Amino acid sequence: MLLPALVQAASVKNVRMWLAPDHARLVFDLSGPVTHKLFTLQGPDRLVLDIPRSQLKTQLSRVSLAKSPISAMRSAKKGSTLRIVLDLKESIRPRSFELKPNDQYGHRLVVDLYRKSQKASPPVKSAAVNQQRNIIVSIDAGHGGDDPGALGPGRVREKDVVLAIARRLKTLLDKEPGFKGVMTRSGDYYISLRGRTRLARKKNADMFVSIHADAFKNPRAKGASVWVLSPRGASSEMGRWLARRENATDLIGGVGSVSLDDKNKVLKSVLLDMSMTASRADSRDVGSNIHRNIARFAKMHKKHVEQAGFVVLKSPDIPSILVETGFISNPDEARKLKTASYQRKMADAIFRGIKAHFYNKPPAHSWVAWKKRGGKGRSQVVLPVVASKPVAAGSSRYKVVSGDSLSRIASRHGMSVARLKAMNNLTSNTVRKGQWLTVASGSAKVRRPVSQPTSRYKVVRGDSLSRIASRHGMTLSQLKSMNKLRSNTVKVGQRLRVKARPAPPPVVRYKVVSGDSLSRIASRHGVSLSALKAANRLASNSIRIGQVLRIPAS
Ligand SMILES: [Zn+2]
Repeated sequence: MLLPALVQAASVKNVRMWLAPDHARLVFDLSGPVTHKLFTLQGPDRLVLDIPRSQLKTQLSRVSLAKSPISAMRSAKKGSTLRIVLDLKESIRPRSFELKPNDQYGHRLVVDLYRKSQKASPPVKSAAVNQQRNIIVSIDAGHGGDDPGALGPGRVREKDVVLAIARRLKTLLDKEPGFKGVMTRSGDYYISLRGRTRLARKKNADMFVSIHADAFKNPRAKGASVWVLSPRGASSEMGRWLARRENATDLIGGVGSVSLDDKNKVLKSVLLDMSMTASRADSRDVGSNIHRNIARFAKMHKKHVEQAGFVVLKSPDIPSILVETGFISNPDEARKLKTASYQRKMADAIFRGIKAHFYNKPPAHSWVAWKKRGGKGRSQVVLPVVASKPVAAGSSRYKVVSGDSLSRIASRHGMSVARLKAMNNLTSNTVRKGQWLTVASGSAKVRRPVSQPTSRYKVVRGDSLSRIASRHGMTLSQLKSMNKLRSNTVKVGQRLRVKARPAPPPVVRYKVVSGDSLSRIASRHGVSLSALKAANRLASNSIRIGQVLRIPAS
């Protein structure tokens, strides 16, 4: 007997998996639209996907399950329904949705498996070199996962090129004293546009840089460009077009309809107005630094920084820029963008632009601000009201070597493990080779004048209570109770009691990186070449990468 084909059957043609730190995304490529049902079963944990009137036209075993929460994937037929069962290694929170075709793919069914055990990644520790905080730069490699971004000749994909440049930028920032780079994505997976700015805020970023590469219908279009958020709409036709294209990636990635809907328009526009002005001025400043640097080796699309309504630039409190590194649709630029040397040049141009900006306008309490003052004093801190308890010994810095343990280091410096952990804000007992720790200096030759339990901080423009708290190593509730605050609002000029940061240690050490010279290190630390040589008993001017130098007090 022949069954009438009432409804077109669909088939699953292919299955792909993308691994993000907090979830795994399975994408089923389909021959046509489907409906589906998803449910979990326990003992053992399983996730079941039912797709009516469908059949499997691929092998599930082709998908690599390594590092995913899935231990096995199998399929069965229940009448005309295709059932796919995922055996799980851990319990997960599932989410699923169907996607319509776009330029890159046909009909798809997406299943996200969110890990429950995933601990929220802690904000980057601000306390760093000399207990003055690092400047945190959030580096955003555009696109990723199912969203390849722009495609160029020779199968060059924007998502790969921009991740490579982003990684090089992170390396440069991490090598630079006083700076730290944090990536929004560190692999080939997708993050929503709002998710990217949310991550930057979670890490207390001082600056957000999104890295992209263009494509245009006309393969002759070329040139790099630097963008900041426009006050109202886009300043050029190109900007409008680009913003539409970059913002549309959320739809390709699949979560656009959720993340882009704006439930709280009124509140948002009020907040934006309040702090946007300051952050836009900084964005333009750092943007033009970078524009100038890139113009030295690349053709620029415009003579100046351009403006458009990119979603990723809409953080009211974090200066944000977007760099289009070139046209991947232009064969000439695509070829260059693929090479390590060009990627390095691009990362270096962005890095130097950021560094120049922050040396010009260092945030309060940053290591760069402290360095600019010649390594003395503390910023914006009114001397303590309460001063007490002389401290027996000073402190110095110790670099963890292979074979060290926290307890050995503590006993060697005559300290308890608890004190050592407290001094370095450590939450676990693990240390890694090369890590710098603040330790009590046994000889107690250097005496710190007094311990300073609290000091005062004056609120500046752009501050929020939570940022002030984290910057002083306090929780929001500690800060509020210390100041008997009932709400989270603060006003510019208001003085708050905060935990005092310990004084910077008397001895500073510096690890030589590639490209350093003795005279550069000396000038960067405000000491003379001869003083630097004397402090390290150097006979010649040659140094090697990785060598640790004592920086004498200037
Ligand atoms: Zn892009």
